[in-house]
Amino acid sequence: MTQGLGLFDAQYRLLLVNERFLEIFDLSEEAFSKRLSAQELDDIIGDRIATTLGTAGRAASGELFGRHVGRLFTQAEPVSGEETFGDRVVAFTHVVTGAGGWVTTVEDVTERRAQEARLAYLSRFDALTGLPNRTQFNDRIALDLAWVADNGIKLAAVGLDLNKFKEINDQRGHAAGDAVLVAIGRRLEGATQDGEFVGRVGGDEYCALKKFRTQTELAEFLARIERCFRDPIRVEENDISVAVSIGVAIYPDDATDAEQLVNNADLAKYRAKRSVTQNVCFYEATMDEASRERRAMARDLWDALDRNEFHLTYQVQKNIRSRDTIGYEALIRWTHPTRGAVPPDAFIPIAEECGAILPIGRWVLKRACADAAAWADSLRVAVNLSPVQIANDDIVKLVHETLLETGLSPQRLELEITESTIIGDKAHALHVLRQLKALGITVALDDFGTGYSSLDTLNSFPFDKIKIDRSFLMEAEAKDDSRAIVKAVVALGRSLDVPVLAEGVETVGQLNILEEEGCEEAQGFLFGRPARLIEGEIATPKAAGGN
Ligand code: C2E
Ligand code: CA
Ligand code: CA
Repeated sequence: MTQGLGLFDAQYRLLLVNERFLEIFDLSEEAFSKRLSAQELDDIIGDRIATTLGTAGRAASGELFGRHVGRLFTQAEPVSGEETFGDRVVAFTHVVTGAGGWVTTVEDVTERRAQEARLAYLSRFDALTGLPNRTQFNDRIALDLAWVADNGIKLAAVGLDLNKFKEINDQRGHAAGDAVLVAIGRRLEGATQDGEFVGRVGGDEYCALKKFRTQTELAEFLARIERCFRDPIRVEENDISVAVSIGVAIYPDDATDAEQLVNNADLAKYRAKRSVTQNVCFYEATMDEASRERRAMARDLWDALDRNEFHLTYQVQKNIRSRDTIGYEALIRWTHPTRGAVPPDAFIPIAEECGAILPIGRWVLKRACADAAAWADSLRVAVNLSPVQIANDDIVKLVHETLLETGLSPQRLELEITESTIIGDKAHALHVLRQLKALGITVALDDFGTGYSSLDTLNSFPFDKIKIDRSFLMEAEAKDDSRAIVKAVVALGRSLDVPVLAEGVETVGQLNILEEEGCEEAQGFLFGRPARLIEGEIATPKAAGGN
């Protein structure tokens, strides 16, 4: 029996008790030989508590039996409740008996209450970081929304997602990953002020809420959050740098309710994740439509390989002085069953985001090498590599196997990579590129002049070619500064002893500029549009007539 029972007579004296009753209050049976009164009982219990907790404990402890009885008889209804005696919590009920006395049932509920408190805590806090969890976030956003609506101010929902957290886990172990999550949690907690909220809502996802009046207030808050990711985190002698993607949506500008606000902050966060340059993105209404569209396209991309919807086109690359053909760049084309021709600029970024670029990239490489191996002249084939392939695929093994399978000699394969490949995880990228070059293939730096255009990139790796982005050529005839960039890149290439290829040459005027500046190679509609193979050979530009 878990309940203690005590029967009191009309003189408020204890007539009868069970074992459990004595246990709960740590009383000995002899104590009842003289029929204690309710008042005496309270005194004994009080003394007992005082010896373990000191006199303060006695004052704090209730007078369970004496104090309640008056109420019991005036209201003529059972009295029940809970009292804390020192470190114990006791639930009790007093019920009047017919003879003018009463029965008290008591139960030690200390464990149960502690358990409940633990559960309540766990259900509202994240066990690892101690931050509020999603449940609490949901409650809080509802309260905050109601509050800002009443007060005519705004609420920003902020979603945070660590970049490449999986790599930290994979490379340094889960303990290090946990340490990073805890450290970030502490920093975020330390960075927030009264009325602000941060929580952890998923593996490497955190969230924050900020009520604000002015844009400056919000910007100041976001700057504080961003600062949490500035310094590396020290874990067992290692400094681990953690980057973050942050998405922000604002009530009432971007949403009418909590769910929409959180969804839209997520959409903004995904955009921040995709962007190489922006780590904080604000929700824009066009994202909704765009993200639906992207999801649909991502689904179709996964099926496109099986359905044979891709093919390659080849665009000729020329030596400017001799006008000799030096090779062809392979450019992928997608014919979607309902959308028709989808340009690579529209689907490559989506394929990169959803991972479909890995099988697609493998297919492109194999197809291009197999095609080139069958060409009559031993011309070079250039294949574009996505940064995602370098970061996530075993590209060295893939290239090696492909060369063996197709019999293409390594000198005939050139891989085109963009600067963003190196910007991400530089050490890894350079390691992969060196291994690739060791296979005997060449590596070109694509789209130079856009994005970072850092000398550092050029110095960090011995590229075999620099490709000037076509945007400069388009403007080179009309704009002096575009021409100056072309000139500078050509000079840079010469000083590094790396040939420069100009992309997007459409007119004779542009070609003249390149000749004057001493640019070695060119590619563009002037020499030929990307064209399909006809019977294994590149169709002539005229015959192909376009993309
Ligand atoms: P990119 O690597 O810079 O490829 C050159 C782009 O310029 C091609 O666009 C080509 O058709 C276009 N182009 C060539 N000459 C001219 C010209 O004279 N004038 C103009 N206006 N454009 C010219 P495309 O085929 O639409 O490809 C766009 C981008 O998609 C490529 O830019 C490349 O970044 C990516 N891409 C294409 N195929 C692949 C692939 O197999 N794998 C990967 N990862 N990316 C690819
Ligand atoms: Ca290219
Ligand atoms: Ca390019």
